[in-house]
Amino acid sequence: MENTSKLYQDLDCVLITREQIAARIKELGKTITRDFADKSLMCICILKGSVVFFADLLREIDLPAEIDFISLSSYGAGTESSGTITERSGLSRDVTGKHLLIVEDIVDSGRTLSHLKAKLMNTDCASVSVCTLLDKPSRRKTDLVPDYCGFTIEDAFVVGYGLDYDEKYRNLPDVGILSPRIYSEV
Ligand code: 5GP
Repeated sequence: MENTSKLYQDLDCVLITREQIAARIKELGKTITRDFADKSLMCICILKGSVVFFADLLREIDLPAEIDFISLSSYGAGTESSGTITERSGLSRDVTGKHLLIVEDIVDSGRTLSHLKAKLMNTDCASVSVCTLLDKPSRRKTDLVPDYCGFTIEDAFVVGYGLDYDEKYRNLPDVGILSPRIYSEV
């Protein structure tokens, strides 16, 4: 069925459907549950892009995990990372002895997560792992390799399922490639 909503009209195409995302998150949840069994797990949501993925992934992890939030920013209103990572707000809970799982929406250059991972590894936590919904390895500028990845994608600017362009499209239930006419109009 053709989707005529304004959100979908701004896409070149839907890249990953909500059904594909849900199925993959179930698999990730099972793997993470197995890997962190008997460990003190804290899942860390990187705001704002990961919030939808985080909420769905958490409910597929069958462990008494703690949660916390960090707000980071490397993009302004564009489609290219600025390369400068700003921490808007940090963790509110003690990480001592905990196994930290950073939950990210997408890894692009890898700068954001390399920066955060290095910072967290400098604490008294037990370990730091990364789970990303999407990975664009062709764009990598660091040696960061996610421990858990939902989907590897080509180099395209995607929105939906939490990912934004200029704070919009986060509520799109699927992941789609944003039509370049949307950002070239600005
Ligand atoms: P990195 O530091 O890996 O270059 O960038 C990571 C951040 O850039 C992500 O958390 C996300 O906010 C943003 N980002 C990277 N690629 C995309 C993309 O294709 N679409 C959107 N909406 N954000 C992206």
